[in-house]
Amino acid sequence: MAADTVFSKIIAGEIPVEKVAETDRVIAFPDIAPQAPVHLLVVPKTSEYANVVELAAGDPSLLAEMIEVAQQVAQQYADGQFRLVFNTGANAGQTIFHVHAHVLAGELTERSLGGA
Ligand code: AMP
Repeated sequence: MAADTVFSKIIAGEIPVEKVAETDRVIAFPDIAPQAPVHLLVVPKTSEYANVVELAAGDPSLLAEMIEVAQQVAQQYADGQFRLVFNTGANAGQTIFHVHAHVLAGELTERSLGGA
């Protein structure tokens, strides 16, 4: 179970964001600290799942819906091609323990995935 995080406040409307997509179960909005020409976050509204492993086990159809929304926003804000990143665990860079996908797009020409 994910703890209350900044994403819960965004979903509750307590922190305003520019919603770029929304379904009954998912929202998408720009990352506050973009790391690519297009950098959007796709977040399920439930705070039940801390990471993508929990989500895949608990509600695979919600994971599929997140990927569908990722495709839609990548189409809308870039050329439909995108990189999907789920940081999973603090040592992998996860700072918010409410599952979310980073949608990175816009001619990502570098070839380093891990920044090593
Ligand atoms: P992660 O490090 O994978 O847990 O990703 C968390 C992401 O949330 C980071 O890329 C942050 O820049 C982003 N973030 C944190 N607070 C906000 C906010 N208020 N609005 C949009 N993005 C945020």
